[in-house]
Order: sequence, then C-alpha cells, then structure tokens
Amino acid sequence: MVNRLEATRNSLGIELSDLHIHLGGAVAPHILWSLAHQQGLKLPVGSYWEFAEFITIDPAKINTLDDYLSYFHWTEKIQSSPEAVERSVYEVISKEFRSSNVTRLELRFNPMKRNRGGERDLDHIIHAALRGLDRVVLEYQGKAGLILCLDREFAFDLNRVIVEKAVHYHPRGVVGIDLAGSESGPSDLKSRATDYAALCSRARDAGLGVTVHVGETAASPAAEVMEIVEVMQPHRIGHGIQAVSSPDALKMLKERNICVEICPTSNMQTHAVDGIEHLGRVLRTLVDAGILFTINTDNPYLSHTNLRHEISFLLANKLMSAAELRQCFAWAEEFSFIR
Ligand SMILES: [Zn+2]
Repeated sequence: MVNRLEATRNSLGIELSDLHIHLGGAVAPHILWSLAHQQGLKLPVGSYWEFAEFITIDPAKINTLDDYLSYFHWTEKIQSSPEAVERSVYEVISKEFRSSNVTRLELRFNPMKRNRGGERDLDHIIHAALRGLDRVVLEYQGKAGLILCLDREFAFDLNRVIVEKAVHYHPRGVVGIDLAGSESGPSDLKSRATDYAALCSRARDAGLGVTVHVGETAASPAAEVMEIVEVMQPHRIGHGIQAVSSPDALKMLKERNICVEICPTSNMQTHAVDGIEHLGRVLRTLVDAGILFTINTDNPYLSHTNLRHEISFLLANKLMSAAELRQCFAWAEEFSFIR
C-alpha cells in the first residue's frame, strides 16, 4: 500500500503547481504515436523508436529558441482533431499528477494551431479540451484550467478571435490567455499596440488571467519586457529572464506585482541561459530583487523533464534552497488563474 506521503513524489514533500506547460510539448511519445495512427496520419518515420527520437529534443541539435519551437510542428499536427485534443489534455494533467504530485495545473495551447487551418471547427477543439479537463479533474481531484495562447506571428484579427473564445469559455474552465511564439519572427505586436492593449483589457475585465511570453531570449531584451508589460498589463510573464539585466525592468516587475514563470530546463535547452552557472545568477538576481516567481516545466516530454526533476535539479546544483522553492510554489498558488 502506497501511502499519501510516499506518493508525493517530489523531494519537497508538498503538492505542486505547474502554471507554465504547453500541450504541444507535454504529451508522451507513445500517446502521440497512438493518436497519429488513430487518425491515419502519414509520419516521416517508420518505427516507434524513430518516432520517439524524432518528437523529443536532442539538446545537441538545439541552438536557438526557434530550433526548439520547430519541434511543435508535428505535435500540433497530431493533436489537430477533437479526439486527439481531448486525450492529450487528459493525459498531460493526469501524468503530472502521478509523476510529481502536481495538483494544480494550467495547461496552455493555441486552438488555432490544432484545427488544420480552419478545416476543423474551433469550438469543437475547445470543447474537446474542456471534456479532457472535466474527466481528469473528476478522476484525480486536482485543480486544472486551460490557457488559450495567442501567437506573436498571428495577425491581430486571429488573436482577437482567440480572446473572444477564451472569454466565451471562461465559465467552463478557460482561465487565461497567453501570448506565445517566436521572439524573432514577424509580428504586428508593436504596430497594433493600442489594439493589443484593448484586447488584454477585455480579457482581464472578463475575469481571465493574462500572461505573456517575453524576455525569454536576447531577441526579446529587457526593454521589450518593459514595453509589453506597459501595453498588455499582464498578471504574470512567461520566462522574462532578460529582465535581470535591467534594474528598471526588475523595478517595474516588482512595483506592479507581476509574477515571473521560470522554466529552468527549457531555458538551458534553448540556450536562453549559457548553462547552470548562468541560470544560478538569473535566479539569484530575481531573489535579491524581491521578484515573485514560480518554477515550471514548459514542455516536459519534449525536454525530458517533469516538475519533480526541476526541483531535484535546482537543489542538487545548489541553485535554490528548499525554503526558496517552497516559497515559489506558494506564489504559484497565489498567482494561479484558477479560482
Ligand atoms: Zn512557454
């Protein structure tokens, strides 16, 4: 008989929250393999083992965030049906509960990247995700919500539709919006700043949380963190690590009580940080500046990690103490968009 404490499979011995985790990088290869076959998709590889290798990161082959994001192409394609989305949502949330005792999880995805360019109905995709969410919450009794991602490379009008869907489905379990995508690609974010400001305010007024991927790599420096915070007024920012190079950016995050979602392994793999020592300096700067932050997985299967591993990694390398980590998970509860 496994008792509750033994089942708490993380070294802090507490229930965990993961606030930054993407559907596209969190489904196990064997599930994606089965989903691809169910839909009769033609895959670029023939055997399961080739597929498992193809769909997860080889750190030696990743030089930039864009290399990393290229892995999403196939997972998004495989997840592009209501059946695949429902099972994916269910599998991700239940797996994080079992592997790391994650009892609060906000799962993010872009529904428009899962409808085969409009071939599948967007509402069917979102309903399917909500069905997966309902089932997993019923079975595992944790807290879970969905965050719909806008994309930096989408035209404003597409992003506006996603926000309207998030508002519409808020009572059913969509808890927030995010802005994701390449930091170096083309974007109308700057030319339509006023429109984006109004869009985010529409989401906030409807009771949704707002988070934004910004300041992950050098392509999105501290100055952009400040610009985006000014325009979008997010409750949280994803990554945001470039802010540590600017006392003004840190001051802004502190004064506006913005929580930073840190994803250690992901930042190492995309080379957003130059290794463990650099990651340690980033974390120390955040602690010293009094910034509120959380620890998250970003893409557990893509990156071969889970929240239990993130904690062990930070403790083993003495990058954070157990007390500091407990504080991060307390902030995660405080800043969660799940009410
Ligand atoms: Zn992310």
